[in-house]
Amino acid sequence: MEAVKVVVRVRPLNQTEKGRGNYSIIQIDREFNQCTITNPKTQVPKTFAYDSVYDEQCPQQLLYDETAFPLVESVIQGYNGTIFAYGQTGCGKTYTMVGVNDPPELRGIIPNSFSHVFSAIAEAPHEKCFLVRCSYCEIYNEEIRDLLHFDPNMKLELKENKDNGIFVKNLSMHTVKSVDGIEQAMAEGNTHRITKETQMNERSSRSHAIFTIYIESSEEIEERQIIKAGKLNLVDLAGSERQKKTGVAGDTLKEAIEINLSLSALGNVISALVDGSAKHIPYRDSKLTRLLQDSLGGNTKTVMIAVCSPADYNYDESLSTLRYASRAK
Ligand code: ADP
Ligand code: MG
Repeated sequence: MEAVKVVVRVRPLNQTEKGRGNYSIIQIDREFNQCTITNPKTQVPKTFAYDSVYDEQCPQQLLYDETAFPLVESVIQGYNGTIFAYGQTGCGKTYTMVGVNDPPELRGIIPNSFSHVFSAIAEAPHEKCFLVRCSYCEIYNEEIRDLLHFDPNMKLELKENKDNGIFVKNLSMHTVKSVDGIEQAMAEGNTHRITKETQMNERSSRSHAIFTIYIESSEEIEERQIIKAGKLNLVDLAGSERQKKTGVAGDTLKEAIEINLSLSALGNVISALVDGSAKHIPYRDSKLTRLLQDSLGGNTKTVMIAVCSPADYNYDESLSTLRYASRAK
């Protein structure tokens, strides 16, 4: 598996779009891994290529098997990795990362990765010991908060030292022993994502949430203790839509600026990594990219899933998502 994989997933037209008489302007070509979007006004098509493309019929399991599975395997082997979904609010980031619990076929990447990790551990040789821990934090307006040891007034800081590289100082770590345990941790964190002033959708579309699984294993091989440590970041990014351009001031304007800044910083890092020849990777440009620094690039794997709506009505936003993703390619 290559170091950075960029894929596109188009969701089905929803009831509102159908009711409005919207139609699909995006065509997915699975054979050539291309996506074509047609300008509804001019009928001019644009085609972009990715590592893989998924249409509205794509089952959650297929997406997991083709994108997340190899990455999670390598984390269990002691490497770092990051999976994130990018796109306009309402286009399927949460559906892709979290999904629907019931029926189980609709579960997304995060719950599927939980089952994957714990079944791999159950199947590992008895002599191999594992320690699984998790943390969950949120970046909102360039401020980091711990969702598992929640205190609305506590802003955490990014620190750097020789032993740990970049880390969030005082971020709580929780040992988890089973799928149930890790699901509970995530559910608890999610309750803190919504207790702020705004409603859930509003808030979750304006902050980045980072759930991290740390997997350590130790095993004696020929009288030597072999210790491996891998880390998996599962990221639900803020919505990429352009915030209202006029009439915003104060907090809303600051919020809009910070979201755009961190999403473009992430895009710049990914495209520098994909480019390969770039000498300088601009990790320092946002908290998000600094926090993910040791799990983006180098000896790590990254999967970016760009999600969009197929509707003519969302042409501008979808084009910008497809462009962002293809630039990352
Ligand atoms: P986002 O997190 O990007 O704001 P959501 O994941 O909440 O968007 O998706 C918005 C709505 O669309 C939800 O009701 C979700 O179930 C539905 N949806 C998104 N993607 C798909 C898909 N690929 N197949 C079916 N329904 C989807
Ligand atoms: Mg969401």
